[in-house]
Formats: sequence, structure tokens, C-alpha cells
Amino acid sequence: MNVVIDKYSGFCFGVVYAIEMAEQELKKSNSLYCLGDIVHNNKEVERLNDLGLKIISHEELKNYTDCTVLIRAHGEPPETYKIAMQNNIQLLDASCPVVLKLQHQIKEGYKTVSDIDGQIVIYGKKGHAEVVGLLGQIGGDAVLVSSIDDLDQLDFSRPIFMYSQTTKSPKAYADIKLEIENRRRENGIKDPLQFVVNDTLCRQVSGREPQLKKFSAQHDVIVFVSGTKSSNGKMLYDSCKVENPNSHFISDIDEIKKEWFSSANSVGICGATSTPLWLMENVSEFISEIK
Ligand code: SF4
Repeated sequence: MNVVIDKYSGFCFGVVYAIEMAEQELKKSNSLYCLGDIVHNNKEVERLNDLGLKIISHEELKNYTDCTVLIRAHGEPPETYKIAMQNNIQLLDASCPVVLKLQHQIKEGYKTVSDIDGQIVIYGKKGHAEVVGLLGQIGGDAVLVSSIDDLDQLDFSRPIFMYSQTTKSPKAYADIKLEIENRRRENGIKDPLQFVVNDTLCRQVSGREPQLKKFSAQHDVIVFVSGTKSSNGKMLYDSCKVENPNSHFISDIDEIKKEWFSSANSVGICGATSTPLWLMENVSEFISEIK
């Protein structure tokens, strides 16, 4: 049985940057706090925990003083920086530049929208760290849309400026855009300048989708390795599954079932932007030894 790891899967540059920053600090001090899971992958979080990284929640942050806290790639709302300043906390800021750019775009868009009685719409997952950070830029004054069902909250007669969480599916974002266009038309609103759709998807994720589809079609069985909390993991796995029904989602080796490979000649292993290469290599080794 031929077992191949997808060469494009694994950490994106935003995650690499955050993990390198944590590792460098841990070499110096053996202990570091990180606000929320540094990456949506339990196995990688466990590895970093062993090096001295301690994950703390936003609630806990309020009780910490005079220490160093890492901000992960997802970014944070302004409130977090305020608490750090009040509590004399030094921040190691590993917010991804792609997310920072989106935060800035939303702030700028909000100024325009406020002048014309419009609405900011953010397509993203409720409660996701990046989305919390985005909403925080404008005091939460946006409509959060997680699916087409949420569009009823919008006032289609008013201007709409739309943004997407960086890791969402391009197809799903396009579907939301199309539905808003239809409803605006139904409401007799035709001015295209009043519906601005910003392309804010991260190319590190959207660029992987077509490539992963090709990879999925080339193998009899696909094993997709990802943490269950990873948004892009879910989205990319769904794309693999559409292309190859013999695709399986796992977070760790003990979830692998031997019967998946009973008639397979080739197995493809791939993962999310938060999946460490070492984990995919362990999975590959395990599958290669299945008799
Ligand atoms: S997926 Fe994109 S936006 Fe998110 S951390 Fe990676 S590079 Fe940054």
C-alpha cells in the first residue's frame, strides 16, 4: 500500500510564526502563558504544554498581573490589549498579518457605513476567536452570519458592507453573496455601490481547497488529520469528502480503523493549516505498518 502525505498540508505561515515565537520564549524562560489554544490542534498544544506553555482563558487573563502572555494568530479585540495594559502584562503578539489587515479593513469600513446608515456583515463562526477579535474592532456593531438562515436579520433596504472570517469556504461565501443580491433585488434595491463584498479569505486556506480536491481524487482512501475545533479543517475535510467518499477525519492515531484500508492501494494523508507535520508523519508510519 502506497502512503503519501500531501506536500501542501500542514501549518500556514501565521501558525508557524506563533509557534516559533512561543518556542523562542520558552527556551529563555521555560514558562509562558498563551491566551486560548495556540493552535486548534490538541496534539500540538500538548507538545507545547510539555515545553512549558500554559493556556489561559480570557476570564483568567483578568486575574493575571506582571507576566508575559502570547497572543495567537487569530488576533484579539481591543479589550484584551486594555486588560494587558491595566495589569502590567507584556504581550507577545503573534496575530497573523492577514487577520490584522482584515481587522483594519473592518474598522475602516465601519466608518464609511456609519455615515450612510449601512450595516457591517461578517460571515463567520459564532464564538470563533478570530470572529470575536473582528467584532471587537467595532464594538460588536455588526451582523454575524454563519449560514444563509441568518440573513433574515439583515435590512436589505440599507447599504451592506460584507467581510468573511479568513478561513471560510470560498464557495459558501459566494453563496451568501448571491443570496443577498437576490434578496436586495426582491426588495427593489438595485444600486450596486450599496452592497460591497470584500474579498477577505486567506489564500493559505482557499488556495489549498482546489489542490486538496486533486489530491483526494488521486488516492483510494484519504485520511484527513485535524483538531475538531479547526474551522479550516472542517471546511477542507468537507471538500475532500465530496471528491473522495472514502475520506476519514481523525484527530489522532487511535481513531484509525484498519478496515478503511482493506482494499486500498494508495492512501493520501492531508490536514488543516493547524495540523503539525510530525502528526501526519506519525499517521503515515502507523498506516504503512498495517497488515
Ligand atoms: S490561515 Fe491564513 S489568516 Fe489564518 S493564521 Fe494562517 S495565514 Fe493567517
